[in-house]
Amino acid sequence: MSVTTTIKQEARALGFDVVGIAHVCSEGTRSAADDQKNTSLLNSETAVSQRLFDRLTEWLRRGYHGTMGWLERDSNKRTDPGLVLPGCRSIISLGVNYLTEHRANEQPGYGRIARYAWGRDYHKLFDSRLKQLELLIHRLAPDASTRSYSDTGPIVEKAWAERAGLGWIGKHSNLVSAEYGSWLLLGEILTTVVLDPDEPATDLCGSCTLCIQACPTGAITEPYVVDATRCVSYLTIELRGDDSTIPHELQTGMGNKIFGCDDCLDVCPFNLRAEPTQESSFQPSNWSLSPDLNELAKLDETTFSMVFRQSPIRRAKHQGLLRNVAIAQRNLKPA
Ligand code: SF4
Ligand code: SF4
Repeated sequence: MSVTTTIKQEARALGFDVVGIAHVCSEGTRSAADDQKNTSLLNSETAVSQRLFDRLTEWLRRGYHGTMGWLERDSNKRTDPGLVLPGCRSIISLGVNYLTEHRANEQPGYGRIARYAWGRDYHKLFDSRLKQLELLIHRLAPDASTRSYSDTGPIVEKAWAERAGLGWIGKHSNLVSAEYGSWLLLGEILTTVVLDPDEPATDLCGSCTLCIQACPTGAITEPYVVDATRCVSYLTIELRGDDSTIPHELQTGMGNKIFGCDDCLDVCPFNLRAEPTQESSFQPSNWSLSPDLNELAKLDETTFSMVFRQSPIRRAKHQGLLRNVAIAQRNLKPA
């Protein structure tokens, strides 16, 4: 069995629902072996990297990243994995389905939390599985170097997932898998081992614009471009400060959303037919499925830390969540 097949089999055995491989060819990693490869493939890989870099540069130039200053740092690394792991030749892209069969409480008085945050924080789960897969790679190729990330490193993971065939980046700028929709949490392993690459995914959005129409704040300024400073996910999770930092029209657009937003995902035809996950750690708690705004408004910092200690909701911090809750409560009242 080839090294690539063994790694993919082990990834599935560890609980990853999808796994794909992208070949890496960068200024930092190009070798004599690359020069013997098909020139048109290398040219297309270089073109993809350049397009990625141009898109990211333009997005940053427009200030669409808001206060997420870390996206500005290391922008070269974000588009060239050879600068993250010297000699990087392959990226193993991995995904776990987080869709559950539960429905959020839509009654007035309850907030809405994005589905990915209904269960336990996925970083620990990913880190342990990624580490086990790295160990396998080191057993198979003792000279190999590896580095793994799940959402935390300077890697444009959706773009590499698209290159690895996991899905395409839809007009809402999230990854869309033909099988799992957008309900995939992603991680990746960079390695110096040359693995057999998968075919990049094909964009199946076609003439559909449902996600653009569904966005409550007009954050999808054009197909495939999201202005994070208008996006409810950014406003409710990343943006610090009191409600004066959020323009009034955007506060209205937040509706009852207190952590993240699924509006552009909920309407996507590819998400409607996705199957629920088998992963127990993504099952919701009562707090995440049916968050009572009045109860949440009373949470002190200690209780917040205790209730959400294993939840992604911690990222908003106590002050941020309560700000979002207050906005949602105001949005309940007739104008
Ligand atoms: S997450 Fe919500 S606010 Fe952000 S682009 Fe999607 S629909 Fe718009
Ligand atoms: S809603 Fe339509 S345009 Fe948006 S990502 Fe899904 S298929 Fe593409």
